[in-house]
Amino acid sequence: MKTTDTGKKTMRRLLKATIWVVSVIVIIALAAAVFQKQILTAVATKIIQQRFANQSQKYDDRLYAGLAGSGGPFPHHNRVGPCIVVKAGDHLYIVDAGEGSARNIALMGFQMGKIEAILLTHFHSDHIAGLGEIMLRRWAGGSNAKPVDVIGPTGVETVVEGFNRAYRLDAGYRVAHHGSATVPPSGAGGGASPFSLSAEEDASVVVIDDGGVRVTAFKVNHAPVSPAVGYRFDYKGRSLVISGDTVPCQSLKKQSQGVGVLFHEALQPSMIKMIRDQAGLSPSPSMAKIMADIPSYHTSPEDAAKIAQGAGVKHLVLYHILPPPPAVLKGMFLGDSSKYYPGPITIGEDGMLFSLPVNNDKIHVRNLLK
Ligand SMILES: [Zn+2]
Ligand SMILES: [Zn+2]
Repeated sequence: MKTTDTGKKTMRRLLKATIWVVSVIVIIALAAAVFQKQILTAVATKIIQQRFANQSQKYDDRLYAGLAGSGGPFPHHNRVGPCIVVKAGDHLYIVDAGEGSARNIALMGFQMGKIEAILLTHFHSDHIAGLGEIMLRRWAGGSNAKPVDVIGPTGVETVVEGFNRAYRLDAGYRVAHHGSATVPPSGAGGGASPFSLSAEEDASVVVIDDGGVRVTAFKVNHAPVSPAVGYRFDYKGRSLVISGDTVPCQSLKKQSQGVGVLFHEALQPSMIKMIRDQAGLSPSPSMAKIMADIPSYHTSPEDAAKIAQGAGVKHLVLYHILPPPPAVLKGMFLGDSSKYYPGPITIGEDGMLFSLPVNNDKIHVRNLLK
């Protein structure tokens, strides 16, 4: 009898506890249902505040390079077309305007309205496809009354004129909708600033010299694409070079002497050959021919490493990655690079920010999209 009483008591306690737990769950569920709108509003407000805070982040007096686009023309789910944001003190510049790069520049928290100039290395479509969107966001994001300066070798006039024309109707809609004070009609699009280089293979020209920032354009070899240039940035004793597209090139090596970071394009020929060998599986009849052609005007990771070593570069970052390797094949992409260059080699990823303090020789790396 005693055992039965104890069993009943236990059952009652269990029942009470269950009723209590279920009641609490029901009350929470009811509260959540009643206050759902308020809870979601609080969450959304927090997210919006966080996004705006990201755009207002303070930068120290350093030379920064943000890899907004690390890819080449190959489509890839997390590598957009080539684009590097350079911030030197208060100055903000963009080098190349790959497809999708405008979104990454914004997501990385750079204030697009403050872009002072866009510099183009050459006019292959993968380097200019995002130009219209970057110019648009720079105009609308900063209520700018003057078009953004688009600096490039001769030919940049044609590119800028084309984008300005293509975006002219859009600009009209935005002025009509937001008003001239918010989007001054005079500031839409870009203004081309072409420069020319002398005939020498290692020709160079200073294209920006402003408030301690010096930007030098120099000839590279991307034949038959000509002109094609790379850019060197100098700011308060720190420096970096961006290769653009090129074969291994003496003028690039000369300009890269002692720089902190060399952003060098890279194509791994052995992997491109593997794609070429399998090209029969592709629905595209031109795949084999294109894979056969492209190694002739790019640089292998190994050759980029040799240039970095010869120039005494502190950190080599490969970008414009062809083909974009999955994580398991990154070693295959780098090949024998580390044999030729003992310093750090980074396979660039979208969102990476390299920062070079002006008072020491350190280089810090983090990813703003992770
Ligand atoms: Zn390219
Ligand atoms: Zn190219």
